[in-house]
Amino acid sequence: MLSHDEIMNIFRRTGVLWEGHFILTSGLHSGRYLQCARVQQFPEENTILCRELAARFKDQGITTVIGPAIGAIIMAYEVARQLGARSLFTERENGAMTLRRSFTLEPGERVLVVEDVITTGGSVREVVKVVKEHGAIPVAAGVLVDRSGGRADVGLPIQPLFTFAIETYQPDDCPLCRQGIPVVKPGSRQSKP
Ligand code: ZN
Repeated sequence: MLSHDEIMNIFRRTGVLWEGHFILTSGLHSGRYLQCARVQQFPEENTILCRELAARFKDQGITTVIGPAIGAIIMAYEVARQLGARSLFTERENGAMTLRRSFTLEPGERVLVVEDVITTGGSVREVVKVVKEHGAIPVAAGVLVDRSGGRADVGLPIQPLFTFAIETYQPDDCPLCRQGIPVVKPGSRQSKP
């Protein structure tokens, strides 16, 4: 089993976790910024994290792993590979989460829902609904990072690889501003991890 530090190191190495001084989309400032998709650039590290997550579900009779496109497609695939299961993804059609491409779920199938990062749990809840509509059984949710501090409720047990609280500050009351550290807006051209 990977330790907390080993997971942190993978997140740092792959550019998932940035440390410095950031303006978030909310306008709040923070000393940390998380971009989970970046680990998918690196098949080796992504495999390590997905193997670790998959191990928590290996005795639960999972036959299909499913996640919401786009963020969870690669993750669902790799977790499914580790479990010897099938891999599916949901997509939005006219705003509603659904199974497209003639993907199917069989009634009674035991399904693991995966997502890279969970904040409110909204998209996982939508995937759970799709699974139930097909008569399949959503068993649990596996996520790389739980940013909700354990508060997200998706109607299933959530297994996070990592629980992460990012402290945020009002711009006029930011300790990093007071230290004079230059602030970066993630996603802008100049920003680098
Ligand atoms: Zn600041």
